[in-house]
Amino acid sequence: MSNLNVEALVRPELAGFEPYDPAFTPCDVNLSANENTHELPQRVRQALGDALLGTPLNRYPDPLANELRDELAAWHGVQRNNVLVGNGGDEVLFNLLFAFGGTGRALVVTPPCFEEYKNFAKMCNTDVVEVWRDPVDFSIDADALVAAAAQAHIVMVTSPNNPTGGLIDPAIVERLLFQTDALVLVDEAYVEFAGEGASLIPWIADHPRLMVLRTLSKAFALAGLRCGYLVADPAVVNVLAAIRQIYSEDVLAQAAAVVAVRAREEFAPVVADIVAEREVLAQELAALPGTKLWPSSANFLLLRMPRAAEVRARLRDEHSVLVRDFSYAKGLSDCLRITVGTHEENQRLLRALAQVMGR
Ligand code: PMP
Repeated sequence: MSNLNVEALVRPELAGFEPYDPAFTPCDVNLSANENTHELPQRVRQALGDALLGTPLNRYPDPLANELRDELAAWHGVQRNNVLVGNGGDEVLFNLLFAFGGTGRALVVTPPCFEEYKNFAKMCNTDVVEVWRDPVDFSIDADALVAAAAQAHIVMVTSPNNPTGGLIDPAIVERLLFQTDALVLVDEAYVEFAGEGASLIPWIADHPRLMVLRTLSKAFALAGLRCGYLVADPAVVNVLAAIRQIYSEDVLAQAAAVVAVRAREEFAPVVADIVAEREVLAQELAALPGTKLWPSSANFLLLRMPRAAEVRARLRDEHSVLVRDFSYAKGLSDCLRITVGTHEENQRLLRALAQVMGR
């Protein structure tokens, strides 16, 4: 360890941050990170291999990933200039705060929600205003949210919400758009698991302050690729295009993402299977003694149970099944978040849980 006083050198707003720790331990069954654990559809696998092999690495990428933007725009019924691609949704979220946050400005969030909103805001010297969800059903107090947003520059809501699983009531988004001047981000990282019609992308055309975040990390089973995107008004996209890391989306990621989005119909059976498995798993988990489960429109379930942290450790250590512990988090005491896996993985989790709880 050197004796450099780095705390005195780092920007004050960045002091105290720790490297991200996904609390990962190698396990046979990993249901901890809301990934898609299904195999890629065979034809997609083949096409991805061909695309990656055929992509030269000696040239810089297209900075804005225009071929991919066109593919995404065609899918969502918007124009290329409505779409901004990033190195995962995370990069887009950071850049949103880099661009629209800053000293004297505030971000409004509705915890319990994705922690990175707050972290990125703090890194960008942006105040964070928290409008906590109802502790029992995790619903949002619309009046409180609108009042907070009316004083803020940007609001981030999540639909379905991570880790609580529910969709946002579109009427709340409507109020945010009509009753405040804030930019409104709806994070739809998990929306493909919520069924037809859940996305608010069709609203973009009429609401220039509305932005929708999507990712290929979940339904498309490409979390390792790092590809997320924003659908928004061209003016917002232009600002973000101007301040982003110029080559953050590499050539391999662009080539693979184009293939996956073009083949999006191939993923429909995978998504349908996860949704069906979610309902089976939810029933089984809810039937366990002493548990509480919230309805989920995503590819994960939030479960409250006695001694959750201990149960999670025993699932990991005795059964090689990994789920995410949220019992330390405010508003989520004794909660575990369980990604919906394949049928076999879910059954293995249930057997392991029965054994852990039986003793
Ligand atoms: N939003 C939410 C709500 C998430 O849960 C995640 C991933 N955990 C992201 C955005 C970012 O996903 P990615 O960077 O993999 O696109």
